[in-house]
Amino acid sequence: MIAYPSGQKLSKQIAAWRERGESVGFVPTMGALHKGHATLCSMAKAQADRVVVSIFVNPTQFHDSQDLEKYPRTIDQDLATLSALGVDAVYLPEVREIYPADYKQPVYALGPLEKVMEGVHRPGHFQGVAAVLDRFFQLLPVNMAFFGEKDFQQLEAVHRLVAMKGHEISVVGCPTIREECGLAMSSRNMRLSAAGRETACSIYKGFIEIKKATAEVFEPDHLEQTKKNWEALGMEVEYLELAHATTFESARQGDSLALRNSWRLFAAAHVEGVRLIDNLALKS
Ligand code: AMP
Repeated sequence: MIAYPSGQKLSKQIAAWRERGESVGFVPTMGALHKGHATLCSMAKAQADRVVVSIFVNPTQFHDSQDLEKYPRTIDQDLATLSALGVDAVYLPEVREIYPADYKQPVYALGPLEKVMEGVHRPGHFQGVAAVLDRFFQLLPVNMAFFGEKDFQQLEAVHRLVAMKGHEISVVGCPTIREECGLAMSSRNMRLSAAGRETACSIYKGFIEIKKATAEVFEPDHLEQTKKNWEALGMEVEYLELAHATTFESARQGDSLALRNSWRLFAAAHVEGVRLIDNLALKS
């Protein structure tokens, strides 16, 4: 495995692979790697001849500078993990390579996803995500890019970005990888105490309870009750919603949920000051 601080050199390597007829899969990450990231790499390995992973804590997607500062960084361990996974190349750019002094961040038309849930609670977040991926996709001529459903709105933003900018890249979504208790794996989980982790496991448990209680017609009481339960455990809940999986419109009392595939539960909550997000399809 070779580490590339320079996108130009990595781009040449990718072009050489492609000239030989090899396909290249790309897994963008912010590091502090866990089994969720490892699964994306394994999926990429199964579908592409070569796998490139980036580790870049992207400043433009954080609206809270403290959150950016506190974001975990475990680069030595990450490189060992990626090497053991058989990844071919790691891209480790400096901020200045991605955002040169004369860089002007475009405005991306990402649609309704920017006006709900993560879009509302993290202003500018998806613009920052689109900005960094647009730069990566301009720099690196990869065939495929892999993203987790854990960040479901982000996955939709990537689809929109690729279509809008005409990047010739297949976007592949991967299911959320969870701890045994159901907690979605996240780099942020390493900031939780053992007790905090146990509290955080209630997010998934709450989702399962709502799924069980939800019949063919939407009843907001189930969400309200779960929110109260979470708050009683000390969680600060930003949102808990049942929303349409493609339009992201919230379900309203009386809405038919017969097409369970079309609906997803979404939540963001703070546990011990750590912001966690998760989502789950309503279908069983
Ligand atoms: P991050 O390093 O948090 O920016 O995540 C990099 C990629 O890994 C994104 O596509 C995430 O959606 C994905 N990812 C993060 N956590 C998980 C998880 N628990 N299961 C599956 N994919 C994940």
